[in-house]
Amino acid sequence: MSDHRALQRIADFDLTDTQRQVRAAVREFAEREILPTVEAHEEARRYPRELIEQLAPLGYLAPLIPEEYGGSFSDVVTYGVVCEELARVDWVVASAVSVANSLVGSSILKFGTEEQRQRFLPRLARGEILASACLTEPGGGTDLAGMRTRARPNGSGWRLSGSKVFISHAAEAGVFLIAATVDPEKAHRGVTMFLLDPAVDGIQINPLPMRTLQRDNIAEVHFDDVELGPDAVLGEPGKGFPILGAALDTGRFSVAARCIGQAQRAVDLSLPYARDREAFGQPIGEFQMVQQKIADMICRTEAARALVYRLGRMKDAGLERCSMEASMAKLMASEAATQNALDAIQIFGGYGFSSEYEVGRLLLEAKTLEVGEGTSELHRKLIAEFGLGLR
Ligand SMILES: Cc1cc2nc3c(=O)[nH]c(=O)nc-3n(C[C@H](O)[C@H](O)[C@H](O)COP(=O)(O)OP(=O)(O)OC[C@H]3O[C@@H](n4cnc5c(N)ncnc54)[C@H](O)[C@@H]3O)c2cc1C
Repeated sequence: MSDHRALQRIADFDLTDTQRQVRAAVREFAEREILPTVEAHEEARRYPRELIEQLAPLGYLAPLIPEEYGGSFSDVVTYGVVCEELARVDWVVASAVSVANSLVGSSILKFGTEEQRQRFLPRLARGEILASACLTEPGGGTDLAGMRTRARPNGSGWRLSGSKVFISHAAEAGVFLIAATVDPEKAHRGVTMFLLDPAVDGIQINPLPMRTLQRDNIAEVHFDDVELGPDAVLGEPGKGFPILGAALDTGRFSVAARCIGQAQRAVDLSLPYARDREAFGQPIGEFQMVQQKIADMICRTEAARALVYRLGRMKDAGLERCSMEASMAKLMASEAATQNALDAIQIFGGYGFSSEYEVGRLLLEAKTLEVGEGTSELHRKLIAEFGLGLR
């Protein structure tokens, strides 16, 4: 249909042929293999592990991991396209890719020893293990420098105690990236990053009851005097805050790309519905107030997409840290995803709340993206501080 072609043209006009082919291939796979399973997994509270594993041979599981470690290394924009297209159909599968590549894989690649890279990256790339990032604590996630999880020296290694909450993929993960402090008095100067295989004594992973994303296994993770060797430190003791900053910078790109996927899904579901559903003897898409919603949904998706892929291009051009642009992209894209889900529900009327349609599920899933990897308030604060020259 002509409107569909127009939307594709807007979304893809400046992608390379290869990036367009990746978009088409991931979309085809996601719609064929993942989409038909999502509602059933959600209802059964079943983690989609086998779908995530299927991504590995296709090269969609490890786009930021170099080939020498078994990944399908691509440019950052292509990685964004993969995250966007996976998130268009499933939050959880996209999140598994985003955590493994942005938060955990990139950190190991940039700051890890060769031994740490060899130990974790090939298994991550092959889908043999998944990754979790253990950052947020019961006492707070925004103020990361105030974390309480403590690592105390223990012989040549460390002993880790404390709790983390809202940890995605925790029960399935084979590597945890953990932020802890070696000295709470030192705030961010005490922060140290650790890599850990969770199959060690002293770790408890308890499911966290959630109102959404039942098919993820979001968990509380408790560390009770967990013994760590000296090789568990990523980087150096007390030098973890910049590692965390770099990880979140890359993480916010992939989360923002995921948000566009969700915003786009709300558009894609609303267009045919508005064409087919009739009221007062005509398609509801012919009413101006419905058209206004559709216009706003398309515009905010495209505006957010422009910010996200500009950020990707900046990274591809070699600008490693683009924190202000990452905050801008993450803020606008996550709010676009939530507002589009709200508008889609309105267009669907009562059916927006029916479990036979996706749009109701999209709303809470989109809203989580305004909270994870920096809340909207935090990003507004960061953007303003950059603008004011306070950072
Ligand atoms: C679905 C989901 C998955 C998640 N997955 C993970 C994961 O895998 N790993 C992980 O570590 N965490 C994860 N999180 C946690 C997430 O990162 C945190 O919830 C988030 O960082 C906010 O922390 P908090 O919930 O403790 O809120 P708080 O930090 O307590 O903030 C509460 C409110 O106060 C506001 N606020 C705080 N400080 C300021 C300020 N300076 N100025 C203005 N407003 C402020 C916040 O914006 C927010 O609105 C996940 C969360 C969700 C919902």
